[in-house]
Amino acid sequence: MTYDNNNIFAKILRGEIPCDPLIDNDHVLAFRDITPQAPVHVLVIPKGSYISIEDFSAKATSEEITAFHRAVAQIIQDENLSAMGFRVIANAGAHGGQEVPHYHLHILGGEPLGSMLAKT
Ligand code: AMP
Repeated sequence: MTYDNNNIFAKILRGEIPCDPLIDNDHVLAFRDITPQAPVHVLVIPKGSYISIEDFSAKATSEEITAFHRAVAQIIQDENLSAMGFRVIANAGAHGGQEVPHYHLHILGGEPLGSMLAKT
């Protein structure tokens, strides 16, 4: 599978679609999901062209991987999610229900999130 340069997060990274960044640094962008599934629903994406968690974990540089996970920690802290807990989701491919083929983590919290999987 090759990276699709026309996916919506690629367009956000090129500035073709607006977003209100919570984090914007050399390697990472984080912004609120447009259709939040919980009171806190933040997406963290690498700036590199990676399709999925598999692609990112296999190919990203150590610097990119470190920056990405530092950003995840920063969002968890900035959104005050540590005390009550939160969930992090990486959808991948058809069975994973991934809609946007640019790697992203969903960080969700702010209320009890229910069971881990709902196959609807
Ligand atoms: P996934 O199904 O894991 O690929 O999730 C893609 C997510 O991107 C969904 O939760 C969408 O609501 C979200 N999304 C799509 N377009 C935008 C956008 N322009 N800004 C913020 N979030 C978006």
